[in-house]
Amino acid sequence: MTDLLPLDEPFDRVSVLLPLPLDVAYDYKADPALELARGDVVEVPLGQRRMVGVVLGPGGGDAVAPERLRAVFRRLDVPRLPRTVIDLVEWTAAWTLAPRGNVVRMAISTPSAFEPPAPVVVHTAGPQEDWTGQARLTPARRRVLSVLSDGPALEQKDLAREAGVGPSVIKGMIDCGMVAPHTVAQPAPFETPDATRDGPTLSGEQQTAAETLRAKVDAHAFSVTAVDGITGSGKTEVYFEAIAAALTAGRQALVLLPEIALSAEWLERFADRFGVEPAVWHSDLKPKVRRETWRAVAEGSVRVLVGARSALFLPFAELGLIVIDEEHESAYKQEDGVAYHARDMAVVRARLEGIPIALVSATLSLETVENVRQGRYGAVHLTARPGSATLPEVALIDLRKHAPERGTFLSPPLVEAVQRTLDEGEQAMLFLNRRGYAPLTLCRTCGHRLECPNCTAWLVEHRLLGRLVCHHCGLSARLPKQCPSCEAEDSFVASGPGVERLAEEVLVRFPDARFQLASSDTLTGPDKAAEFVRSVRAREVDIIIGTQVVAKGHNFPWLTLVGVVDADLGLAGGDLRASERTYQLLHQVSGRAGRAERPGRVLLQTHAPETPVMQALAAGDRESFLQSEIDQRKAAGMPPYGRLAGIVISAPDADRADAAARMVARAAPRLNGVTILGPAPAPITMLRGRHRRRLLVKAGRQVNVQQVLRDWLAPIKLETSVRLQVDVDPYSFM
Ligand code: ADP
Ligand code: ZN
Repeated sequence: MTDLLPLDEPFDRVSVLLPLPLDVAYDYKADPALELARGDVVEVPLGQRRMVGVVLGPGGGDAVAPERLRAVFRRLDVPRLPRTVIDLVEWTAAWTLAPRGNVVRMAISTPSAFEPPAPVVVHTAGPQEDWTGQARLTPARRRVLSVLSDGPALEQKDLAREAGVGPSVIKGMIDCGMVAPHTVAQPAPFETPDATRDGPTLSGEQQTAAETLRAKVDAHAFSVTAVDGITGSGKTEVYFEAIAAALTAGRQALVLLPEIALSAEWLERFADRFGVEPAVWHSDLKPKVRRETWRAVAEGSVRVLVGARSALFLPFAELGLIVIDEEHESAYKQEDGVAYHARDMAVVRARLEGIPIALVSATLSLETVENVRQGRYGAVHLTARPGSATLPEVALIDLRKHAPERGTFLSPPLVEAVQRTLDEGEQAMLFLNRRGYAPLTLCRTCGHRLECPNCTAWLVEHRLLGRLVCHHCGLSARLPKQCPSCEAEDSFVASGPGVERLAEEVLVRFPDARFQLASSDTLTGPDKAAEFVRSVRAREVDIIIGTQVVAKGHNFPWLTLVGVVDADLGLAGGDLRASERTYQLLHQVSGRAGRAERPGRVLLQTHAPETPVMQALAAGDRESFLQSEIDQRKAAGMPPYGRLAGIVISAPDADRADAAARMVARAAPRLNGVTILGPAPAPITMLRGRHRRRLLVKAGRQVNVQQVLRDWLAPIKLETSVRLQVDVDPYSFM
């Protein structure tokens, strides 16, 4: 596709992709004076509406006759989107089978950024000769002049506030020349990180790793490097060196983190190293910050940005490095809308940009491990914690031998270990990846279980809220007085533990200990999370009771014991990555213990100590765990040794869901090397009131699954109430 369109015709046509759930782009007439090119953001008419879209290139691809074309209204005043971003949009759409319009929406998610920032008007005192003798000097006006005489120029609302006058007073003073307005440019909201500041003195292996990454940055060519290092080995310090190299080379750097909301600590470390905080990007940004950030990335005044997965589609024009921290995290996979994996698409962006990317983790994903083994990716290894810090010792508690007392969840050995830790004046963490009080509420009289009316899921009791909550659709209800099934009164009992229930047990067993609940229900935003981290570091907390929100990242020097209450929890359900995820999560949690000079201990309560996951965790033997996973996946032809795609068909009622699923299955191709499983009811058979059926496509690595799916699904016409979602390389099997 050519960059600039021919200018020799009075009107030309351009192809414009709009942020709508459509794959097609529409043609528009374009005034050659606009000099439109691929990546320009334009406003166009659509029906009665005005819409912002992106120019893909010359038109002519659709059948609309030239005389019926409508014209582009205008080109918006933002830098042209980099070619790599448009290429990434097209690549992502082709890979995920999402309509291109849905993908481009992620790249132009901040329409307010497309208007130039409003200029700022500040005020000073007007020259006295302009108004003396012509305007009255009231007490209010005197106050305004006094504020201006010994302070900086102010915006109108600030001036009015400081002088204690209404806006009309200021307006009157402007009219008579007592106050002079001046238009100034918005101050740049982003400071440049300083790459010349010194980091810590790196250990030998850290230095080797940093050198390798720095050389890749300097080479300014596509490469993928796995940064494989145990928790606390200094992976962050090492990739900071790569960021410094990118800054020195005059390029931008992008760091993706899985849960940006909880990374106050990361931002602080970055500020320690580079003197200023980086720009951040996530879904909770205030609109003003969002707008400024988007524009500053495009204009190049943001040099380093740390963000959640959607930051991948930002219009960096001078990108020199991408870092994916915690690359194994399934949070990088988006499940709703465009089902893309941000790590995989980040590798694509790095390739399109011709730049290095680093994939960082203490528990690399099997996909990345396999790519390293095959020589497609490079790797650097960090095997030691700096200074005298050591890895924690991990031991299993066999719950079959050491059962907790009835109605409690902590086994005697774990209780004893917590007590000893408290006696030493150190901190303990009890990890249970279950929010709320109890995962299940049942009627003591008839056994009826309280289920969500919209989803195939139990209602979870949140006692702190006094509600039953569905974790799938958010439905929230009071605990009914009567059982809906047998009408017995006050007959409900909680079954199983959540973190709130564990807190009750802690309160009884360790009455003098100060404990803190940490889950997405209590750490509801960055401020709460930062306060939590601070209070733990300040040793205002003795026992942390936490879900996965505390599993990663934080350094708590006094935390020396981690007790995992239900190590088997993630293994149920049996999806493809259940063992791998359990290993990663528990390994990560274990890494919280003993990060400073105090050695740490980890106790895992399990009913299945003999499984490879538990054995590997106890022995600290990642290699043999990986090998057993690899053997199983190879034997089953599962990713990364085969390809998978999920198809979920949903409808407001079961009959329509079944009919549509059967129709899709009947149209399935019969191809060598492709197996189609289903349709079957999805494990969550009903979700938000929709009935769901699943098909699974399993194919050899050499099969172009996307092409198979396109050929299969394109001719199928579904009723409008039926939805069909494709998920290439699914991570969720619900
Ligand atoms: P990881 O990212 O591998 O978990 P971090 O980079 O967070 O490890 O390092 C763990 C802790 O050790 C941090 O507090 C970090 O500042 C410190 N650290 C790492 N490398 C060094 C070093 N060479 N000198 C001093 N402190 C270091
Ligand atoms: Zn629900």
